[in-house]
Amino acid sequence: MCGSVGYVGTRPAVPLLVQGLRRLEYRGYDSAGVAYFNEGRIEIQKSEGRLENVERILGSLPGRAEAARCGIGHTRWATHGKPTTQNAHPHRTGHVVLVHNGIIENYQEIKKDLIARGHRPQSETDSELFGFLVLEEMEHESGLVEGVRRAFRKLEGACSVVVISEREPGIVVGVRNGSPLVAAVDPLGGAMVASDAQPLVEYTRDVYFLEHGEVVIGSTSGLKFVDLASGKP
Ligand code: GLU
Repeated sequence: MCGSVGYVGTRPAVPLLVQGLRRLEYRGYDSAGVAYFNEGRIEIQKSEGRLENVERILGSLPGRAEAARCGIGHTRWATHGKPTTQNAHPHRTGHVVLVHNGIIENYQEIKKDLIARGHRPQSETDSELFGFLVLEEMEHESGLVEGVRRAFRKLEGACSVVVISEREPGIVVGVRNGSPLVAAVDPLGGAMVASDAQPLVEYTRDVYFLEHGEVVIGSTSGLKFVDLASGKP
């Protein structure tokens, strides 16, 4: 079982994400990573092995992550591909960056179709493929929320995702369909999501456990929810 976290709001995002991942460590993992906004671009720092490896990388880049108020993080338990840095999450596809818990059962079919359409996945994971689907949807649908929702409907299997995009800084989109996802409003302004309540309860006791088939949108103004199937609030 792996762990995902996401944050957008008023606090420094990277320490909050790292602390959140630490609270999910009990679930077990083989690699870890974070992604955060730095001057409009999303930077990813990840590593095989312990979360400390990621902290060491972050520590060697002073000034890069401090300003970030939005980001996502992940501890991976490899199911598709070796536990390497390359396969560690977050994964980037163009302006889309994501973390994923669980398994995409129809990944072979999706991969074959993506390659036929000219895409070149960089990792061995099933997870990375989802980013290409979101990217394709966003070529037609301008919004990240609708792009994630539509792309997610092409997946089979029990999983959850948390996604950010350079095209829409300031929102974090999560979907639960199988693997658990919990969301909360940051009392200081903002929103957080995580695989369980552990990373959130230090900020608030008021946490929301998503149902299967729910999409959560976190922003500085809090949380919104839409239905995965219909897209309706
Ligand atoms: N199936 C994905 C992978 O192998 C996610 C695994 C997980 O839930 O950590 O990267």
